[in-house]
Amino acid sequence: MLAKRSLVAAAVVSVSVFGACSTRTLETVPTPNAAAVNLCCGDSAMGVALRIAADYREPTITTRRFTHEQFWSAVLPVATYAEFKVDEVGKSLHGRPLRTITIGTGRDTVLLWSQMHGDESTATMALADIVRWFANTRAESRDDALRERIMKGVTLVFLPMLNPDGAEVFQRENAVGVDINRDARRLSTPEAQALKALHDRLKPKFGFNLHDQNARTRVGRDGVQAAIALLAPAHDASRGYNDVRSRARLVASTLATSFQTELPNRVAKYDDTFNPRAFGDLIQQWGTSTVLIESGALPGDPQKQRLRALHVAALISVFDALATGAWSSANPDTYETLLFNTGGASDLLVLGGSLVLPGSAPARVDLAINYDDAVARTGGRVREVGDLAGVVAIDTIRVDGLFLHPDASTVTRASAGVLLPIGAPAVLHVRRGADAVSEFVRTIGGSTRN
Ligand SMILES: [Zn+2]
Repeated sequence: MLAKRSLVAAAVVSVSVFGACSTRTLETVPTPNAAAVNLCCGDSAMGVALRIAADYREPTITTRRFTHEQFWSAVLPVATYAEFKVDEVGKSLHGRPLRTITIGTGRDTVLLWSQMHGDESTATMALADIVRWFANTRAESRDDALRERIMKGVTLVFLPMLNPDGAEVFQRENAVGVDINRDARRLSTPEAQALKALHDRLKPKFGFNLHDQNARTRVGRDGVQAAIALLAPAHDASRGYNDVRSRARLVASTLATSFQTELPNRVAKYDDTFNPRAFGDLIQQWGTSTVLIESGALPGDPQKQRLRALHVAALISVFDALATGAWSSANPDTYETLLFNTGGASDLLVLGGSLVLPGSAPARVDLAINYDDAVARTGGRVREVGDLAGVVAIDTIRVDGLFLHPDASTVTRASAGVLLPIGAPAVLHVRRGADAVSEFVRTIGGSTRN
């Protein structure tokens, strides 16, 4: 099944995907030098897999917002050339094809679906890269043994971007505002119907439900921002462990080990309250050992490209564990001892300062700020003003003894006086005194990123 020919040989081959007006030529990727590879990733399993993630990154997808057409324009030629099985398994409400890519011939079927929430694209990017790796799109092929072991050991079925209409406008719900992950029981949407029918046909042994979670989520009550949250969903309201869920827990432990090597203290466990309307829970109930992977956010990763690479690496590692059976010797405690995801944090706390507003004496207050884009940390707005001791946030800036001068463009002149309203842009000039010409220290918010 694995096309032995490298795509180097295909450099002169044009693969028509969407008709004559949209042919494209597969391109080769230059080989990085060995020293750079070693510096990049090391020799551990995750190190090797991270090097693969870097080498096989789909170059046309560079940000977390991209369309169905952009995705399939990149991936379909690769999958077609490698002779992977590509099937249309349904259409979205607006008629966009929902496609699967099947790779490998192993006994156990593994089903992965991504982006049922249209604005949760991290794993979709990773699946594009993984398809390139399985297709062996490079001149050299030092990963052949790993690749072939996986392809002989398992049959992988990818269903990327289950909600293409939502992805088109980067919204969670489908075209008419329905949350597909609250439609697993009723099956009102064509997207949910397609996933259910696919599951019923394949009856996969393992499933991966791939999402992105709110960036304002921390590891435990006092931890840092969660980069990854894992869940072996409950199969019923008792939240007990039958064989199916027990297997899922071992797979989750395998994933946790991989992610934690690169993200110590940033991997959490998702709440396992049973939801009879959600796909992860019901697919577990329907007999497929299923793991939810939620991408959170990382500082300095505004387009989630680091998280994309970590997904590629962790998924390749877990595919290998499924192919070899190594997953069954994982320690369930690795998953069980993860701290729970804790939501509701503010993005930024500014503690210890005094707020200076024209016409009033400086007031000793703290500020909580939320960004319009919590992942990229841009577009900060005032969320709360007052004594915010005990309020949790992803980041905290201490300005003890300093004075916060809101930018003049952000304050409101009301009949009672000048105020900084909730929801106003957070652009705070920090000075050493209450005087507007006192020594300037820094600006918080505005065009600067905190
Ligand atoms: Zn989601």
